[in-house]
Amino acid sequence: MNKRWTIEKINDFVEKNSDSKLLSTEYHGFSQKLEFECACGNKFEKTFTKFKNKNQRKCDVCQPPKESR
Ligand SMILES: [Zn+2]
Repeated sequence: MNKRWTIEKINDFVEKNSDSKLLSTEYHGFSQKLEFECACGNKFEKTFTKFKNKNQRKCDVCQPPKESR
């Protein structure tokens, strides 16, 4: 099933499922990087796919990217 995400739905998801805030106001597709603000105040960019499916819901400081594992 192909669920269609809008910026409103994404904003809602971010609010309910993370401590981060969505800063971007437009969503053009799953490959677009969205801007978020982490609970610590850092801003970071991530695609919504990564944010949602890979649980990358914080900045690189609070949640360092996992490499080679
Ligand atoms: Zn952070």
